[in-house]
Parts: sequence; structure tokens; C-alpha cells
Amino acid sequence: MSLDAVDAVNWSAIPNPTAHPSDDPERVADALRRLAVSTTANETGDAASLLAGGGFVCSHAGMVFPAAYAATPVLLDLVEHGRRSRIKDAALGLLFDALCSLPPVGHNRVDTPHGADVPLCCAIARCIRGRHAVLRAHGRFGRQLLAEAALHWQLTIEETELQPDGTLTAIAVLEGTPLPPPTEAELHVPPFVQRAATVCVEALTADSSGAACIQLRQTPIRITPGSTLYAAECGRREH
Ligand SMILES: [Zn+2]
Repeated sequence: MSLDAVDAVNWSAIPNPTAHPSDDPERVADALRRLAVSTTANETGDAASLLAGGGFVCSHAGMVFPAAYAATPVLLDLVEHGRRSRIKDAALGLLFDALCSLPPVGHNRVDTPHGADVPLCCAIARCIRGRHAVLRAHGRFGRQLLAEAALHWQLTIEETELQPDGTLTAIAVLEGTPLPPPTEAELHVPPFVQRAATVCVEALTADSSGAACIQLRQTPIRITPGSTLYAAECGRREH
């Protein structure tokens, strides 16, 4: 695997919530490089321990850091192209830890190409879903990671129509598996400068391709095509 994906990230621009040197995002970059080029079981284990010991996740505290979002595509590359199966397995385990941990207070959101202030867990989950073919081919643990990612569902609105009773019907694309409605969601509207509003998805039907039709109660802000909905619960995940 090429290390260009690690070098392409501006690690020093990522916040370090604890300001502790062991949580420095540059240290995450270094550990990812070490993991990618590791040849012995000890080297792989040491690199994975560095990532699990702070900066990426702190497995001891069950905490995930903002740098985990930038590290996720690199770890997914390692699952796909890692030189050894133990590197692939270590990358998979770290991704699972990242999804199952909670971010520190005030650091539970990241900006992504698809929207600003996205819950960290949902941003990581979306990257993971994007590599579903690779993960499905990676046996039971790959499928478990996909199942965990599916809990961080997302709806992208394509069209809306206001109904006579004041509710809004929308055609949307669903990724993941929401809880049965009514479901509380946070609404992000392009150009994603406003704070997300909390809304209630009152009805949802979707087919296996993700084509969905949803019903929302009157919303506080105007929903435009490209607006996205995430589980409200994800936006409240904090340590
Ligand atoms: Zn989430």
C-alpha cells in the first residue's frame, strides 16, 4: 500500500482535544505509517497499540478522537491492500473500536466533503459503507463492521412536497438502517452553515437499493435537495 494517503492529510490541522502529546494527530500519522510497513507480528502489534493508546482511539477510556475520521480511509486501504493478514485484521479491529467509542465533549463533529459538523461516528461509518465490497469479502469481522456502520444511518433528500396537512413528504436516498419511525433526526441543510435542527421522521419506507420515501413534521428550516438527516442520538454522543 502506498503511504500517499497518509501524507495527503494535514494532520497538524486536526484538533487534539486533550492537548496531551500521546493524543497528537501527527503521532496517529506516524503510527499508520508504521502499521502499513510493519513486517513482524511485534511491529504490527506495536503500531496498532500506538493507535489504540491515544490520538486515534483510547481503548482504555472508550474514547475516539477527531483524527480517527482522517485515519479511517487509510485503515480501509490497509484492510484491502495490507501486506499481511495480521495488518488487515489490526486495521479492521481499530475501525471497529473507533465506531464503538465516544468522542470527547466538544469534539464529536467533523467537516466532510458532504457536509459540515457531521457527527464523527456517522462520518466514519459513511467511509466504511463506501468500502462494503471489500469488507464483505473480509469474512465475519468485515460483516460485523458493516453491521455496526449501518446503525449510523443517513438520509439524503432529493425532492420534497408539502402536504395539505402541513407534513412534508420527501424522496430520499437511505444508507444504513434507522430505527423504526417515529425517529428523531438532525437535519443539515446546504450550504451547511446553519446549525443542524432536530426533526422527527414520522414515516419511512425504503427498498433494498436505498430509494426511500419519508414523512416529516413541519420543519423549522426549509429543506432543500441535498439536505441530510442523521440520527439525533449520534449528534449527542459524547464522553
Ligand atoms: Zn453516528
